[in-house]
Amino acid sequence: MDKIKKDVSGAWKSVCVDLEKKLPKHAMHAWFDPIVAVGFQRKSFILEVPNQFSLEWIESHYKEEILLSIKALFDKHIQYRFSVAKEKKIDLKENNSKGLFLKQKVKRFNNLNNKYTFDNFIVGSNNEFAKTASESVSNNPGQHNFNPLIIYGGVGLGKTHLMHAIGNNSLKQNPNLNIVNITSEQFTLDFVNSLRKNKTIEFAQNYRSSDVLLIDDIQFFRGKEQTQEQFFHTFNVLYQSGKQIVLTADKFPGEMKGLQSRLLSRFQSGLSVDVQPPNFEVRVAILLEKADQNGLTLDYSIIEFIARHIKNNVRELEGTIIRLLAKSSLLNIEINNQLVTEVVKERIGGRIGNEVSIENIVKKVSEISKINENDIVGKSRKMEIAEARQVSMFLCRDIMGTSLNNIGMFFGGRDHTTVMHALKTIGKKQSSNDRMKRMINSIRKDLGFSFL
Ligand code: ADP
Ligand code: MG
Repeated sequence: MDKIKKDVSGAWKSVCVDLEKKLPKHAMHAWFDPIVAVGFQRKSFILEVPNQFSLEWIESHYKEEILLSIKALFDKHIQYRFSVAKEKKIDLKENNSKGLFLKQKVKRFNNLNNKYTFDNFIVGSNNEFAKTASESVSNNPGQHNFNPLIIYGGVGLGKTHLMHAIGNNSLKQNPNLNIVNITSEQFTLDFVNSLRKNKTIEFAQNYRSSDVLLIDDIQFFRGKEQTQEQFFHTFNVLYQSGKQIVLTADKFPGEMKGLQSRLLSRFQSGLSVDVQPPNFEVRVAILLEKADQNGLTLDYSIIEFIARHIKNNVRELEGTIIRLLAKSSLLNIEINNQLVTEVVKERIGGRIGNEVSIENIVKKVSEISKINENDIVGKSRKMEIAEARQVSMFLCRDIMGTSLNNIGMFFGGRDHTTVMHALKTIGKKQSSNDRMKRMINSIRKDLGFSFL
């Protein structure tokens, strides 16, 4: 024991040499190289580690090995204790060339999409709170108790948009901030690579030098224990030094499965805000904004039609506008009603056709024309009845794109030329006859196809 006291660091070094035989190289490099044996008191090595993070990691992973090595080399009663170095190692390093290098390296993560701002984020009751909290965080990152800020909710509802907006706005307020923006998958990959290349220290320092850490879709940390471990410690270091952390997730943190409970409990110390699907008015506003952004002017009736059918996902709303634009320019046609129906159908998997059935159309026509449904699909050639039948055929083709043969079969087994004739007749009447126009418009409206 006296021998140890005389040369603590030499004694500790021999422990490390023994550990090297048992532990992977990267582990030695990442966790043991930074340890400094600063003393020996009450039969214990006093080992200084750079931070709480290392302490917890070493304790939970290597305790047994350390004790075994000590026992093999010295006395079995000898223990070890950790002390955490004063928290300024990383700051100091930033002043030397390595620090600068690290800073530059970190910048490569700063892939903020500058299209995602608060200005172009449409607010409704579904996302108002999330937006307000995000904005407030970006005005004073790390300075209040919205830390971490967790934005959660379903797919395509603006979580990533808000997160980037936080980054963009923070940077606008203070261009010197080091914003690290990354998806949880990239974080994982980066960690795995650092293990592979023996660069876990650089990895840790990269992340821990951020002023604002933005991690998208943390549900992908699910089941990745070691990555969660890393993230946990990065989180602690940043949190303790008053840096802002913003996370997005698909669920309320309390309901997330496969994440360590100590992580979840850290999350609870901040603020969780949700984004919900937008209501009709917000959908219309979003569509108007997106059309405008794409230099597109659409009739309100078209906007309304899209908003009525695409409900759960803002990305889909946006996608519809872009698809319309693409189709019209590729096919070199105007954006007309048919194109809009087509595109909307594509996006919602043809559900428009399922919502409206031939029976439905016949029922509506019957209500308006006061002609019995059985007559409409029957054989009678009486003028009013024949007209109601023709109108029904026209609408089936127009709204659902039903084939001529199918229409013929449904309406009393007629052949496709009869159907074609009906379509032509009503098409003409529609433009020349006000009564016909009104009737067709009102049925379309009832079926949710007002603009056609
Ligand atoms: P999430 O990350 O929740 O899956 P995103 O943030 O990627 O969703 O949003 C999908 C698309 O919808 C993005 O292009 C985004 O700009 C847009 N978006 C979502 N919500 C809004 C909104 N409230 N206002 C404007 N655009 C929005
Ligand atoms: Mg996203």
